[in-house]
Amino acid sequence: SNKVWVLGNGQLGAMLAHAGQPLALDVRPIDIMVPTAEQLAMQSNDIVTAEREQWPESALSLQLSEHPKFINGPVFGRLADRFTQKSLLDELNVATAPWELVDDNSDAAELYRKYGERVLLKRRTGGYDGRGQFWLKQAEQTQLPDDWRNEAIAEQAINFDEEVSLVGARTHDGRCVFYPLTLNLHQDGILMASISPLPRLQALQAEAEAMLTTIMDGLDYVGVMAMECFRVGEHLLVNELAPRVHNSGHWTQAGCHIDQFQLHLRALCDLAVMTPQVNFQCVMVNLIGIDKDDRWLSLPNAELYWYNKEVRPGRKVGHLNLSVKDNETLASSIAQLQQWMPAQYQAPLAWILLHYQ
Ligand code: ATP
Ligand code: MG
Ligand code: MG
Repeated sequence: SNKVWVLGNGQLGAMLAHAGQPLALDVRPIDIMVPTAEQLAMQSNDIVTAEREQWPESALSLQLSEHPKFINGPVFGRLADRFTQKSLLDELNVATAPWELVDDNSDAAELYRKYGERVLLKRRTGGYDGRGQFWLKQAEQTQLPDDWRNEAIAEQAINFDEEVSLVGARTHDGRCVFYPLTLNLHQDGILMASISPLPRLQALQAEAEAMLTTIMDGLDYVGVMAMECFRVGEHLLVNELAPRVHNSGHWTQAGCHIDQFQLHLRALCDLAVMTPQVNFQCVMVNLIGIDKDDRWLSLPNAELYWYNKEVRPGRKVGHLNLSVKDNETLASSIAQLQQWMPAQYQAPLAWILLHYQ
């Protein structure tokens, strides 16, 4: 039968393969740098997708990216470069943080004058989990580092109320479906925790769906896309887009009748796609640079996804989904995690208790 090849074999690829199983979809995440004979046996009616926006060039990545059924092929490069991604948002009139390209003529004083006393430089490519960012601070007279010229954009610092994201999918015939908005907490640029759905975010759902619809239509996109936003008062500004399944959609594994991984596969394979039914409110805790602790499995509402990667500081090594059947159970699970988890988790766990209702 036809296969779905996934460029990249990290945790997102693994979870796509896992989600394909009940539908008997043969999903094959592949390590781009290590071709095997089996991978080279790709058929022309197979489907190719990716779990990342960028990949090193290799014989295999070329074979994959030139495949006639590499869905969204041109989109990856366009969104992988923040310059072309932000240009797209401007072209589509989708609100985003004010920005410009940093080039040979850029000047810190001019950036402070235009955007205010804090300006965020972001590498055009390769940044993730807050890596590839550099704050310019007028108070500290920070100058533009030379090696960021032509390699970065400058963005206004947004004094947002909170961060939310929308995960949606578009079908081959241009229909869009969405999950409810997710509330996200980032610490040092990395996602720590998510909560969805939240009744109070319902008021922003229509605006968010209209924005992501414009983007997916504009790209003639097929499959799951994630849109990270800042909420400023009653409105949203797009922070960035991911043309793939996304960490802030992991809660759907415990909360919805179709999770984001299966939704992506359904859209790619032209199977039925409908608005996922939400069965539970869920809380997701990212496991970052922390050793596996089997006590987590004893929580009555926890589902553990452990990526089996080497644990290193700052590295995402798993996540815990906690479904909220009743407030008492959630509160006691979080209280238990507060005992078991190290210092850097205390703020995100307290944040969950404060916000999930
Ligand atoms: P990801 O892992 O989500 O791909 P990333 O490294 O691509 O992260 P961004 O999502 O652009 O980076 O930024 C990471 C975090 O930094 C944001 O979630 C937000 O908390 C903060 N941030 C980004 N841009 C701004 C901004 N213009 N003003 C204030 N904070 C910002
Ligand atoms: Mg990013
Ligand atoms: Mg981000």
